[in-house]
Amino acid sequence: METRIFKLNEIDQAAQAIKDGQLVAFPTETVYGLGADATNEAAVKNVYLAKGRPSDNPLIVHVASIEMVERYAAEIPNSARQLMKVFWPGSLTIILKIKPGSLSKTVTGGLATVAFRYPDCQPTLDLILKAGVPIVGPSANTSGKPSPTTAQHVFHDLNGKIFGILDNGPTRVGVESTVLDLSTPQPAILRPGAVTKAQIESVIGSIDLDQHHVGTNETPKAPGMKYRHYAPKADMTLVEGDMDKVVAYINDQTKKAEAEGKKVGIICTEESRDLYPDGNLEVIGSREHEETVAHNLFAVLRDFDARKVDCIFSESFSKDQLGQAIMNRLCKAAGYHIINV
Ligand code: AMP
Ligand code: MG
Repeated sequence: METRIFKLNEIDQAAQAIKDGQLVAFPTETVYGLGADATNEAAVKNVYLAKGRPSDNPLIVHVASIEMVERYAAEIPNSARQLMKVFWPGSLTIILKIKPGSLSKTVTGGLATVAFRYPDCQPTLDLILKAGVPIVGPSANTSGKPSPTTAQHVFHDLNGKIFGILDNGPTRVGVESTVLDLSTPQPAILRPGAVTKAQIESVIGSIDLDQHHVGTNETPKAPGMKYRHYAPKADMTLVEGDMDKVVAYINDQTKKAEAEGKKVGIICTEESRDLYPDGNLEVIGSREHEETVAHNLFAVLRDFDARKVDCIFSESFSKDQLGQAIMNRLCKAAGYHIINV
């Protein structure tokens, strides 16, 4: 079966396919999601199969109204209502206690909580409303690979494994939503994303950021934290330090790797592009506009896969604001192989 591409004027057909229990990837403002009816257990199981996703890594439930959250959440605390008012629709996923028995264990990975998101993307909201059910939507990539920010990325990973893809062109934000756990007394960010810690704190006060590198025998709060993520095929090294030293280090390592016959990729910025050999580069964006860096991040990793490079050296970014989400993705893409120069 060749996966079908739905145009935006075919949302009715895409919604019908979801109702029929099929898998349809959908755009959001962050990355493309792999959609299935959250209330159809067989369909949800197929999401795990298509992605090769471990079954203990729960799925985010995408809704198009607060009423949809009320159907499945045991309660919506005040802090959640305030955040929904400010950030929904938008790139904030909120974890709440589940109304027992309201969604299958397949969706929650057996946890007593559910993650909800109300995306800021009209075609997605139309799809959910037309399907009439909430839609699960993990990133629509093969598990472990860079997340998809275009319909073509989804097609590359999942062609033949899913029924269709609703194509809305490249996503705007480019990194996944912020995952915030409100099911415990102390709210905590389990995954940094487009909505920053400071933005959330301006609404509900102090929160935690759970950012440590999860060991293999640990049980993390977000089950997804223990798995390899966003990884390009090449070995990747993230280089931190003063910019002139970073540039010198990357150029030096590139020469050494090339002398060994390796094909090298360099992730640089508009500001540094002239400081490296031309043929190796992917420009990820400008340091002046971190939005462009987030927007291009996954596409750059996928471009290096297509160019079949053996190793990638990447500049690093400040960990403020959106930089927190950018560095989280780059650290994971590099398998935490980080050099301080
Ligand atoms: P993805 O599906 O690739 O967008 O990733 C979603 C992330 O949210 C994964 O790291 C999941 O483990 C995490 N997540 C989803 N639902 C829950 C939940 N109920 N509790 C904790 N983490 C969750
Ligand atoms: Mg993912």
